[in-house]
Amino acid sequence: MRILGIILIVLSLLLLIAVPPAGVICLLFGIILIIRSSKNLTDKIKASIAKSKEKSEQSAKLLKEKYEESLQEQKELKNQISDVKTIHKLKVLAQENRERMESAGLSMYEWSTAQDERVRPSHALMEGKICKWDDPTVYSTDGKTWKPRPEGAPLVHPGEEEGCRCTALSYWNELVGEVDKAI
Ligand SMILES: [Zn+2]
Repeated sequence: MRILGIILIVLSLLLLIAVPPAGVICLLFGIILIIRSSKNLTDKIKASIAKSKEKSEQSAKLLKEKYEESLQEQKELKNQISDVKTIHKLKVLAQENRERMESAGLSMYEWSTAQDERVRPSHALMEGKICKWDDPTVYSTDGKTWKPRPEGAPLVHPGEEEGCRCTALSYWNELVGEVDKAI
């Protein structure tokens, strides 16, 4: 297109001498062709710039995604580490709680779950039940009569199973009962 435009302009110069009106028309066509071809070129450059911009944007996005992925991985790992720590801490706390109660003369406790959606269904069975430290297979509702724990219920004390967030609450009625007996 560009070359054709130049040829037309050269031709128009010759025509201008011989046939001036044809020369003028030829000159106009030549100029139009050159302008159009340069416009095409500009469009092509613009398109290629846009394409490379898009490419670099894509690779930047990919980099960002990879970075975020690794951040997430680190975060998850941290969570796992803190979970292992938490699991251990929960067990230690449960053990300390038991020692404290038993040394205070409490042989019973009330099973209390965390009462949220994460509570295991088997542990939810124990919510509010009276239990005794020397036998994790039984439960009571009054602290006097003992029955085997329901099927599926944990045969351990609160906080002894991995990650269990249940706690043993003091069953003060036991002490009240002792005092009543003493009186
Ligand atoms: Zn539990």
